[in-house]
Amino acid sequence: MAVRATKRGAARTALSADVDVLICGASFAGLAAARELRGSGASVLVVDRYEIGERQTSACAAPTEWLTALQLHHSIRQTFHELVIRRPRGGRGPVWTTRWRLPWSYSTFDYPALCADLAAQGEFRFETAKVDGITRGETHTVHTDRGDIRAPLVLDALGWRQVLAAASEPIQPPQADLTRGLEVHPAGASPDLEFRVDPAYVRAGYSWVFPAGDELRLGVGSYDPAIKVKQPTMRLANAVGVPTGEFQGNWIPHRLRGATGDGVFFAGDSAGHCLPATAEGIRPALFFGLAAGREVRAVLEGRQTRATALARYAALHETRRRTYDIFWNVQRSVGPLNGTYAMDAALRLIRTQRFSEYFFRRYRAIAPPEFVSRGRSGTHRAPARGRQARATA
Ligand SMILES: Cc1cc2nc3c(=O)[nH]c(=O)nc-3n(C[C@H](O)[C@H](O)[C@H](O)COP(=O)(O)OP(=O)(O)OC[C@H]3O[C@@H](n4cnc5c(N)ncnc54)[C@H](O)[C@@H]3O)c2cc1C
Repeated sequence: MAVRATKRGAARTALSADVDVLICGASFAGLAAARELRGSGASVLVVDRYEIGERQTSACAAPTEWLTALQLHHSIRQTFHELVIRRPRGGRGPVWTTRWRLPWSYSTFDYPALCADLAAQGEFRFETAKVDGITRGETHTVHTDRGDIRAPLVLDALGWRQVLAAASEPIQPPQADLTRGLEVHPAGASPDLEFRVDPAYVRAGYSWVFPAGDELRLGVGSYDPAIKVKQPTMRLANAVGVPTGEFQGNWIPHRLRGATGDGVFFAGDSAGHCLPATAEGIRPALFFGLAAGREVRAVLEGRQTRATALARYAALHETRRRTYDIFWNVQRSVGPLNGTYAMDAALRLIRTQRFSEYFFRRYRAIAPPEFVSRGRSGTHRAPARGRQARATA
């Protein structure tokens, strides 16, 4: 379990600040945004309730090309050129293993190392503080457990809870549109990035075994937030032949939300950027974190107003909505299909070369790694809706 390095007791002094930019959340989305503000001359404060990289809540597998584009390759633990899908035939029969060649590779990485490297690319002050809420205005006031912070430009990269949302109703599991994810990280090794589409663990969802050097990250994700996954995770560990040890988990949003709200930017899980069905959330969090950072930078440099920045960022986000809706429909079909021969047929179809090439081209285009080098501060254009929808759907 992560050691809590966060300041406690007397070390937890009062915090009051006036800054140009406040980034709430120091994980993928928040650190990606902060990176884009380097050299802007602005005062940038990043807050998180934990130290940077202290609390891993993910299996941490991402496209290798994203990690290299962001120069985060030193954190890579293991690289995979194919996906392995294990599933009992018809949901009950003998286990059938299928290998899906990837047109690009995925890598598992070390979370603290990645966060440290990404943070080093930014230029900001960091404070540990728990964000509680916001009073909105031309200059927002963000309330934390250590005091108030004022900033005209605020990004909520706080994850699924969307703490700074204007909505009166809090996002509350198990009623909300959330997937439940739980995993363990025992010592072990394997060459395969493995998914199990097996109703013995979960019907509406999937399980995974992701190797990362000398550890296995294995767990179960249920699209139905009411279905608990601790017992299935223990059964999975038992089937793989490893002890469970400490559990780590989190909620994952599986519906796209709003990218902005009353003068605040949202990126990553707080905006619902984690993809439905696959629950791939790191790549979109990095993508939208960079995009939000670039829009904020253009405001700091006097090239656009905050209102324009918010509108441009929201437009970019909306270009992906149709794709997210398609993935949401795929996700909804998994529960009814899992445990039937129709799922076997669906998996056979997606393995065909034609489908595979088509799918992966579209899937990559949701958050392509070229975006990293596409330039900072508003040099990306939020494309016309129709054009982008065709390119990414
Ligand atoms: C078990 C599991 C396995 C997963 N595996 C993968 C995977 O292999 N690949 C993949 O692409 N995606 C995976 N995901 C999804 C992925 O982890 C998320 O989509 C991704 O972490 C979102 O990044 P983020 O920066 O938006 O939010 P987060 O990574 O959730 O970061 C939010 C940050 O905000 C901080 N915070 C939260 N609330 C407060 C508060 N009130 N005050 C101060 N700070 C706060 C947190 O400490 C955290 O640092 C997995 C998810 C789970 C649950």
